[in-house]
Amino acid sequence: MTKTIIIIGSGFSALAASCYLAQQGNDVTIYEKNETIGGRARQFKKDGFTFDMGPSWYWMPDVFERFFSDFNKKAADYYELIKLNPAYRVYFGIDDFINICDNLEEITTTFESIETGSGKQLRAFIKQAKSNYDIAIKDLVYRPGVSPLELVTPQSILKLNQFFSTVSRDIRKNFKNERLIQILEFPVLFLGAKPSKTPSFYNFMNYADFGLGTWHPKTGMFDVVRGIEKLATELGVTIKTNASIEKIVVENKTATGVIINGQFVAADIVLSGADYQHTETLLDIKYRAYSEKYWESRVFAPSSLLFFVGFNKKIANITHHALFFDVDFNQHAKDIYDDPKWPDEPLFYANFPSKTDPTAAPDGMESAFFLIPLAPGIEDNETLREDYFEKIITRFEELTQQKIKNNIIFKKSFCKNDFVADYNAYKGNAYGMANTLLQTAFLRPKLKSPKVRNLYFTGQLTVPGPGVPPALISGKLTAELIHKSIRSQKNEITI
Ligand SMILES: Cc1cc2nc3c(=O)[nH]c(=O)nc-3n(C[C@H](O)[C@H](O)[C@H](O)COP(=O)(O)OP(=O)(O)OC[C@H]3O[C@@H](n4cnc5c(N)ncnc54)[C@H](O)[C@@H]3O)c2cc1C
Repeated sequence: MTKTIIIIGSGFSALAASCYLAQQGNDVTIYEKNETIGGRARQFKKDGFTFDMGPSWYWMPDVFERFFSDFNKKAADYYELIKLNPAYRVYFGIDDFINICDNLEEITTTFESIETGSGKQLRAFIKQAKSNYDIAIKDLVYRPGVSPLELVTPQSILKLNQFFSTVSRDIRKNFKNERLIQILEFPVLFLGAKPSKTPSFYNFMNYADFGLGTWHPKTGMFDVVRGIEKLATELGVTIKTNASIEKIVVENKTATGVIINGQFVAADIVLSGADYQHTETLLDIKYRAYSEKYWESRVFAPSSLLFFVGFNKKIANITHHALFFDVDFNQHAKDIYDDPKWPDEPLFYANFPSKTDPTAAPDGMESAFFLIPLAPGIEDNETLREDYFEKIITRFEELTQQKIKNNIIFKKSFCKNDFVADYNAYKGNAYGMANTLLQTAFLRPKLKSPKVRNLYFTGQLTVPGPGVPPALISGKLTAELIHKSIRSQKNEITI
């Protein structure tokens, strides 16, 4: 029984879902509002420079492999991966940094050289993180968030105490050196909340970091978007861009189709990979499951100020990924989560893909992006953006001991207002809804609409949460729910 399925948006979760749904024999069309696909993982090219606009850390390669293996494929059938070494560098002061290598052995040696005894502690910590990873990423996150019982397994029950402590507390129990603490707290930032608010069970992110490594698709993260697009097309998915969904039409609690650029298009099933809150605004109020008050009360992951920059020379003393942790982490975190405002002294992240990929910039030049995490919903204007560019580029010059301002030949900023305009992102969030204890699994917005029979959701505001690997998993989970519902309808008809 072929169903006509409309998918809203072309981010990773939507692309992944489209593959599963087409594989099940459905007629699937993706409608993307922007000119190009990929959602927050779009790419743009300018004057010989190539910029990934969102994700740059390829973590958890096993999740990508699992995705492709569902189609009897391998990631290598679609793109080439390079393991980065060093994985990244963390700056703490002028010419003062720590390199994180590509294997636990060397990372342990680095830790030991900074704090005596920390090498042994690190091995034990990563062993526990791996055990959590095996439970969480290989099993629990592949559950659809329908019932709390999904979280109760013989393995997870043994870890219960880790839900009552935090990553921050756990790390501080085992390590004393502030730099090592900051390095170990960094990976959980990908989940969208402060380490002091994230349960210690989530230290599986530390295993993703130190145990599995940081990878780079040969010509950028967009290789992955292109790869999944190719797979989707091979499976028969149609993708339409410049196609903004204006309304989801519902009759008798059943979606009958959508309005796209003023035209009605019929569907048996509608699946949205656009931000959940935005999708609900496409419904009449009576069909919305979550109120404005609900969204207002959620902990959202940060928004970001990004600068895409082209330099007309090679930049020294920098690696592919570099974190600038030379200022007070706690103060910046407060400015994001507790008392939202522009931070006086921002931490920032710099990404130089042309250090690994020569196609990212013209010969002898460098392409880079700089990212400052910001509170969602914050005021955003050109003056603020420029002030902050000046702040971080001056610090970058000091910390890496070189002059680069006069070598900028291209610069484009992207901030909260652009997240709203380009992606319909609630409060201009960059990474969706945070994964805190009270916003995990069955406590997140549901994959299946509680109010409209054949409306489904996927992506970083629903299950399992923010990040590219979770987006792939989210696509799979929602496709499985849809498949189950189609099968049960078929059974009813047969009976
Ligand atoms: C700056 C930045 C850095 C990041 N870094 C990393 C990283 O290093 N590693 C990592 O794993 N993750 C990272 N992430 C997170 C990761 O990119 C996201 O979690 C993931 O890409 C989200 O995918 P998604 O499918 O949920 O949604 P999105 O990618 O947001 O896709 C939603 C799509 O829906 C479209 N849409 C919205 N409204 C409509 C409408 N009405 N009609 C039609 N289409 C519509 C949007 O245009 C968009 O294309 C980063 C994100 C950002 C922004």
